[in-house]
Order: sequence, then structure tokens, then C-alpha cells
Amino acid sequence: MAESPYWNPKTETLAREDLRRLQGLRLAEVVARAWQGSPFHRRLFEQAGVKPEQVRGLDDLERLPFTTREAWMECQRRTPPFGDMLALPLEHAVRYHTTSGTTGRTPLRVLDGRVDWKWIAECWCYGFHGFGIRAHDRVFFAFSYGTFIGFWGAHYGCEKMGCLVLPSGNMTTEGRVALIDDMQATVVCATPTYALRLAQEARERGVDLVNGSVKRLILSGEPAGSIPATKRLIEGQWGAKAADTAGMTEIGTIMMFECEQQPGGTHIIEDQVIEEVIDPDSGRSVGYGEQGERVVTSFGRGMIPLVRYRTRDLVVKVPHTRCTCGRTFDLYDGGILGRVDDMLLVRGTNVYPRAVEAIVREHAAVDEFQIHLTTVDGIRDEIAVRCEVRPGHEAQWPKVRERLAADLAAAIEGLSIPVVEAARGSLPRFELKAKRVKDERVVKGAGR
Ligand SMILES: [Zn+2]
Repeated sequence: MAESPYWNPKTETLAREDLRRLQGLRLAEVVARAWQGSPFHRRLFEQAGVKPEQVRGLDDLERLPFTTREAWMECQRRTPPFGDMLALPLEHAVRYHTTSGTTGRTPLRVLDGRVDWKWIAECWCYGFHGFGIRAHDRVFFAFSYGTFIGFWGAHYGCEKMGCLVLPSGNMTTEGRVALIDDMQATVVCATPTYALRLAQEARERGVDLVNGSVKRLILSGEPAGSIPATKRLIEGQWGAKAADTAGMTEIGTIMMFECEQQPGGTHIIEDQVIEEVIDPDSGRSVGYGEQGERVVTSFGRGMIPLVRYRTRDLVVKVPHTRCTCGRTFDLYDGGILGRVDDMLLVRGTNVYPRAVEAIVREHAAVDEFQIHLTTVDGIRDEIAVRCEVRPGHEAQWPKVRERLAADLAAAIEGLSIPVVEAARGSLPRFELKAKRVKDERVVKGAGR
């Protein structure tokens, strides 16, 4: 019998109406469980005037209130360390993780039980298997194995599939490159930014990645994994195929993945989560093809059930027919497009960092970059893109700079964005979520 391209052939190819029915049953179950065990959720449901017995199928989803990060944070603050969110006693927990807290806020504290952790590993198998990774693969993890959940779930997913896991928690970038080479890793898991950093290190060490053992990269942690130019850059430097995945500490660690067909979007693991897309202002759901905020209900977390969690991620959902792989799971066109709160207001113009990245990455002469915002004369916002030139591309740089500035001006109307050269090695590199916006304005978004 030919090997299946699906990890779970039954659910990944379910007819849409059967998938809806399955989601409805699982929704009713998670709502009942949340009501029963978690005072936080019961309070939210009571405030919204909804009882578990009123939730019988997917049509009842919109009766349920949203869960927000703010409310979760508030309950955690009031009764530290976990708030009254947990639906099972603390003794069930086997894992402690926190959100990465990139914006300087207190991180959310998350617990998982044994069953929850199995579920997380299972979800990763959909993604790994779906991208062609099998038991014979040797999978290298370029991440620090700290309290940030990152690739932890992916590690366990690989073990479940029977892959050889190569952890590199405490290693330097140099050490990691050597390990990939020594062990002839076939798959590398990293953030898009760090995949580029590893490639740079390999070049400096004379390690030929393009003709090396790595055939696939699994990207996560930043939206850039779905930006075509960034992906092309990574694929070119590694001589390998790269697939985007995305998750969220609050919900589990993978909710969507790219299949081998790579139709320009990520399949949502719809038998394990419900993903809605809403207008972030009105809270009303939007249709296929319209950009909005993703809202997630996850079925598999026993300790922390989540119902209609507002992620603040921006997405555009498209029907499963966009892809030819045969899965009936819908997709997010271009993966996660950014964050609702990411938008920068500069002299009255909206600037999305992801849009800037998509343009900058079209230019191979740029090694690393940063969007720099300052206040000039105490009132006026100034924006510039600072670029480190890739070694060997110095001669082309003046021309590239000109073209890049023109491309940025064409894409972001009403704002001219100077492109300036930054000294080599002066811009930060990141292992986890890259922060390429340096906002040093006195008042953010003021002064037209
Ligand atoms: Zn597909």
C-alpha cells in the first residue's frame, strides 16, 4: 500500500459537513469542561448569559464570549501565579511554560498535563508528516529549550514519529553548525531569522549547506516563514525546502502548517482547533478572502481550555480547494500576516513591518535590517530602514540602496523611507522572535 501523505488520513480528508459536526461535538465538550473546572471560564460564560447545555454544535459558537489576553492576565495578577483559569488541579501538570513576553509585559504562565502534552506532540505530527518528514529523518532543533514553549512540542512530535532528535539548547551558533554537519541532520527547525543566521555562520565556517544533508526546514515563531522573499532566501542559502508553521503558547504549539504542495498558505489543523476570523473592531466574523483577527478555540488542552481566544494575529482565510493535496482543512493565505497591534503610524501613514520585510528580502545584498523610528525637532516622526550589507555585495550596494528606497516608496504611499547602511554586525540577530522595529519616538504615532 502506498504511504499516506496525511498523518491522520481520516480527519484530514473529512467532508466539510462532517468536519463541522466533529468540531461542534468537540466544542460542546470543551465548553462543558471549562464550565465545570475553571472559575475563570464559568465567570465569562455567566457574564455572557450562556450555559454549556446551550452549546450543541458549531452554530452555537457565536453565543460564546471571547477570551482575551487581558482578562487572563488580570486573573493571573489577582491570584498568582496561575489565576483561576486552570480546569484541573495543579497536580496534573507535567509542564510549565510562559509566553515569550517580547513586548516587555509580564508573561502568561501556562501549564500542561500529560494528556495535553501528548495532544501537542500529535498536532506537530500533522505538520511534520504533511511536509514529508518521516521516521528516518534526523531533526535538528535550533532553540534554547527554556520556559518559552517554542519548539518543545515539535521535539516531542518528532520522537512520536520516530525521528532522531538533535537538541542544541546551550550551544553557540558555531557549535550548532558543526553539529548539523557532524550528524548529517536532514531537517532543521528554527525561526526564519535564525535559519538565516545559521546559514551566515556556515558560510563563515566554510560549511557547504547547499550541497549538504539538510533537505527540509521547519520554520516557526515569526510570520516571516510565509513571506515568499524571505522563504526563497532561506531555501537558497540552505539548498532545502522550507515550510512555515505557527502556534501560540496560550493555545498549544502548532495550529497550522504548510503541506508539501505549498500553495502559498498554511492548512489549519481543523479537527483539533476551531479558527474564526473576525473584524478586530466590531468582533463580527468576516468571510473567506477578508483580512481579520484570528480567534481560536482549542480542543486538546485539559488544564487550560481556551474558548474563542483572541490572538491579535492578522490572517486571511481561504477555502481548502486552494490546495491540491486533498486535505479538507482550510488555509490561511500567506500564513500569519502580522499582529493587529503591529501597525506603525508614521506621519499619518500606516506602516506594516511585515510589508517592509517582504520588500527588503527581495534584495539579496541585505544581510540584516532594522526599521528605525525617531522623533526629529521634538515633533516630527522619521522612519528609516537600516541595512547591513552582505559580505561580497559591497560593490552593488549603492544601486541596491537606490532600488530598495524606490520599492519602499512605491509600496508605502505618502512616505519616503531612507535606506541607510549599518556597520557589519551592528544590528541584533535573534534566535527567537525577531524584533526588527526600533521605535525611539518620543510619542509613538504623533506628528504629521
Ligand atoms: Zn495542502
